[in-house]
Amino acid sequence: MSNSPSANVFADFPGTFKGPIYRPGDDGYEDVKAIWNARRSEDRPALIVQALDADDVVVAVKYAESKDVPVAVKSGGHGVDASAMPHNAFVIDTSRMKRIVIEPETGCATVDAGVLLGEMDVATQKHGYVIPAGVVTRTGVAGLTLGGGIGNLTRRFGATVDNLLSVDVVTMDGRKLRVSEETDAELFWGLCGAGHNLAIATSFTFQARKVGPQVMSGWIIYTAEAAVPLLAGLDEVMANAPRELTIGPVVLPAPPVPGLPAEIIGKPIVMAMIVYTGALEKFESSMRGIRDLAVPAMDLVKPSTWVEANSMIDNFVPTGRRQYLLGGYLSAFTRDVARVAIERIAVAPQPTGAGPSCLITFPILGGALFEKSENSTAFSRTGAAWLFEAAGQWDPPGSDEEYMRWVTDTMSALAPHATANAYINLTADRGPEWLRGAYGSREKWDRIVALKRKWDPHNRLSYNKNVIRAEGRPS
Ligand SMILES: Cc1cc2nc3c(=O)[nH]c(=O)nc-3n(C[C@H](O)[C@H](O)[C@H](O)COP(=O)(O)OP(=O)(O)OC[C@H]3O[C@@H](n4cnc5c(N)ncnc54)[C@H](O)[C@@H]3O)c2cc1C
Repeated sequence: MSNSPSANVFADFPGTFKGPIYRPGDDGYEDVKAIWNARRSEDRPALIVQALDADDVVVAVKYAESKDVPVAVKSGGHGVDASAMPHNAFVIDTSRMKRIVIEPETGCATVDAGVLLGEMDVATQKHGYVIPAGVVTRTGVAGLTLGGGIGNLTRRFGATVDNLLSVDVVTMDGRKLRVSEETDAELFWGLCGAGHNLAIATSFTFQARKVGPQVMSGWIIYTAEAAVPLLAGLDEVMANAPRELTIGPVVLPAPPVPGLPAEIIGKPIVMAMIVYTGALEKFESSMRGIRDLAVPAMDLVKPSTWVEANSMIDNFVPTGRRQYLLGGYLSAFTRDVARVAIERIAVAPQPTGAGPSCLITFPILGGALFEKSENSTAFSRTGAAWLFEAAGQWDPPGSDEEYMRWVTDTMSALAPHATANAYINLTADRGPEWLRGAYGSREKWDRIVALKRKWDPHNRLSYNKNVIRAEGRPS
C-alpha cells in the first residue's frame, strides 16, 4: 500500500457520493474533524466524506481501493486512541447515519452507525426498552459495539454484543452484507469485539430489554478513610446483590460538590455511581450490603429516569480536553487494589481546567457477562469481574508528559492485579504483545488474524488497534 495520502490525491473523489465532503480550509472542516480527545487536535485529515447511507460507504470504499489508500472510520468520535481523524488521512464518517427503528412488540431495534448512545437511549425508552451499552451519552454505538460494549446493564444483560442480532456492513471490497450467526457465524463472531479491523458497519440490529423508565440512581460519596473497607468489601457484597443493582466506584480528588466539607476538596475520595433497575420497593434491601460496608459522607441516590441515570457521568469526561486512558480487567477487588487507587490519586497532577483531572474508575462487570463463554465472541470476558480505567484529562499541550506519566505509572501499579486479557475499547493501545493477549487465548487471536486476512487483506482499516501491526507480519 502506498504511503499516507496528501490532499491532492483526492481531487477526483466521485460525484456520485451523496453526503457532504470536507477538505482542509472548507467551511465546517474544523467542526467536522473535532473529536472527544483533543490530544491529537493538530492532525488534519486530507478528506472527510460524510456518508448518508450504505451506498455512500460503498462509493467511498471503492474509491479507497482504486487509490490503494487506508481509510479511517469515524462514528461517535469517542475512540480513546483518537484514531478517527488522523493526519493526512482519508476519513469515512458515518456520523450522519442516524436512523433508529424499533419494533414495539418484540424489542427488535435497528440502529444506524452514526447514532450516539444518548440518542439510542431516548429513542428506545419511548417504547420502554433499553439496549445495554455504555455510560456516556456522546459515545458512538458503532465503535462501542464493534469492541464489545459494557455499562450499567452489563451485570444484568451482558455485553452489548451479547444483545446483538445482526450487523449490516460494507466489506473492504465494497459489498453490502447483513452478517448474523445464521449468515456467516465466523464473521459475526469477529465483529463482536474485533469489528473495527474487519469491515465498516452501517447499522446494527439488537434485542432490546425492558427497563425503566423509573429507576434509582445517583452518587454515594465516601472519604478516603472509608474507601478501603468499602472497595475491598464489594466482591462479597455484590456476589449476593441482585443483578439489577450496579456500582461503579470512581476514585478521584474531591470536586467542590456543594455540601462536602471544605477540608476534603482536592483530597482522594470515592464517588460510587449507583444504578438500580429492579422493582423500586426492593431497592433498599438490595443496597443493604453496600450500606453496611462504610458510612458515606453524602448519599445522593434518588429516583430518576433511566435516561438521567445513564448520563450521570457525562460531566466527568467532557469533549475537547487532552486525554490519556489506560485500563484492564480485575478478577477481584482487593484491599491492595483499593490502596493503590487512593495512593495514586493522592499524587495526581493539579487540574488545568474545570472538571476532574485524574480519575480511576472501577465499573462492576461479571453477572450476566459470565453466562456466555469466553469463546462465544471475539470480545474477551474471562475473569472480568471489574473493569478499571486510569484516566488523565488536561488542557495545555505542555502538560502532556506529566499527565501521561501519571496514567502510565498508575497502570504499572495496577497491572500486577489485572488479568492478561482486556477490553480493547476502554484503554489506549498498549502495544503489539498486549493486543495479542487482549482477546484471551492464542486460539482466539489466530481466528481474528484469519478473519482480518480474509476480510481486509490490504489492511485498509488500519487506524485502530491493528491486528496486522500486532501480528508483526506484513499482510
Ligand atoms: C468518554 C468515554 C466514555 C466511554 N464509555 C464507555 C462505556 O461506558 N462502555 C464502553 O463499552 N465503552 C466506552 N467507551 C469506549 C468506547 O466504546 C470506544 O472508545 C468506542 O470505540 C467509541 O466509538 P465511537 O464510534 O464513539 O468512536 P470513533 O472514534 O468514531 O471510532 C472508534 C474506533 O471505532 C472504529 N469505527 C468507528 N465507527 C466504525 C464503523 N462504523 N465501522 C467500523 N469501524 C468503526 C474507528 O475506526 C476507530 O478505530 C467510552 C469512551 C469514551 C471516550
